[in-house]
Amino acid sequence: MLSRPGAIPQSDRLVTMVMLDGARPDVFDRLVAAGDLPTISRHVLEPGGRVPATTVFPSTTGIAYLPFLTGCYPGTCQVPGTRWMDVSRYQGRWMRDREHVRSYCGYQGGMLNSDVADSVLSIFDIEKDSTAICSPFTRGLGEGRHRRGVTRMVYGAAAHYNCNYEPLDRAVCHEMVEQARRPPRFMFAVLPGIDGVAHLRHPEHPRVLDLYRAFDRDLGRYLAAVGSDTDHLLMLVSDHGFSRIDRHVDIALALEDLGVATLRHPVLWRRHPRAAVMVSGNASAQVYLAPGTPRSHRYPLSAIEGGEIEGIPKALVDHLANLQGVAFVAAVEGEDVVVVSSSGRARITTQGDTIGYTPETGDALGYGPTPQHHDSDGWLRATIDSPHPDGPIQLLQLFGSHRTGDLIVSALPGADLRSDWEVPEHKAGHGSLAADQMLCLAAFNRVVAGPIRAVDVFPMALHHLGYDIPDAIDGRLRRQAVAVVGG
Ligand SMILES: [Zn+2]
Repeated sequence: MLSRPGAIPQSDRLVTMVMLDGARPDVFDRLVAAGDLPTISRHVLEPGGRVPATTVFPSTTGIAYLPFLTGCYPGTCQVPGTRWMDVSRYQGRWMRDREHVRSYCGYQGGMLNSDVADSVLSIFDIEKDSTAICSPFTRGLGEGRHRRGVTRMVYGAAAHYNCNYEPLDRAVCHEMVEQARRPPRFMFAVLPGIDGVAHLRHPEHPRVLDLYRAFDRDLGRYLAAVGSDTDHLLMLVSDHGFSRIDRHVDIALALEDLGVATLRHPVLWRRHPRAAVMVSGNASAQVYLAPGTPRSHRYPLSAIEGGEIEGIPKALVDHLANLQGVAFVAAVEGEDVVVVSSSGRARITTQGDTIGYTPETGDALGYGPTPQHHDSDGWLRATIDSPHPDGPIQLLQLFGSHRTGDLIVSALPGADLRSDWEVPEHKAGHGSLAADQMLCLAAFNRVVAGPIRAVDVFPMALHHLGYDIPDAIDGRLRRQAVAVVGG
């Protein structure tokens, strides 16, 4: 009998979810094959395995933690990116409207907790015996149950400039071992090192590989401290992969070149802006047209291309889609999403549970020239090996948020969407719908049927702890996972 959310079931079950931020599944596999991750091989992969998995769009740090902790997409959470604008409230005043423009990279970082929609429950809301270590999202955690939050702020800020992430990861692992003296029923531990060093070097730099190896050693100490008396579900996950970046395309500067005054971080002031660009993870961006005039709707593609928005050239979407380094631009048309790329346009439609993808003048997402119709799971299976895994579902979920822009821009692998104000320069990045960035690590010490999405990890954790799965989440308990995890 499962317990209702909120009740604490009597059992000896534990869940440890380790977020190896930015870990690429293929790099992980190569280290395993080389015998470099012996603890993980013995205690995770032998009894369970790694399953093919996709993260969410935008594939960016913090935002892409939400599916693991809530079972919901960023669109459902109403947090569509690292940076966003609420066009229903923003009136163009620099200071007074600052609260309606968000960047979690600076002093607004803590607002992630209150920005997530009230209707969304976190695993910390449900399992009160939870601890998080070094997490940017902590909503629902009891007092004293967020560990190393200050360490993340202090070390993380310094490490961003001096690339010295190793002490931060070791501090997290040290805290895990400390917590194992009386392990909480649910522990969420974040290791920021792989992400941090990969950005400034590259995803397979020797220092990045050493961070995987160091975690493997520390995991051995943690598992020894937890002991074997409990039914322990161990989950190793990542929030996104990485692509090497050799080209920076600044969307805001491209708009300025078109004569469109554009608001952007970090200054966030432009006289009479006609557009605002909000970049996430650096390889995706959202474009908001005519900011400063509050509105409750999104401009459809036909209005943009029909010249109905003052100061916006009709050719703006085509111009952005044809920039070198841009994979596609997406916009809405009624209930549909239209994807515009340099190779043509495709349309995503929904009819009940069936989602269609129809290349109209081109195969914009790279799924082939013929129309396809699948349900949600069908799309995951059909596209996980494609250039844009899970694209239709991810674009629909992201446009589900009223805070998402009129346009969503996704970069090609090898490019990101910021140039002149990024310090220090990134050599690798993520945030886009490209496969290298969307495929994420999901390894469990139980056999789980793949492929899965990041949103499916949350119900797996709840089920193991004995809780009902909330109805309104986007993820679902995978059938084989029920049989094995619950068995
Ligand atoms: Zn990350």
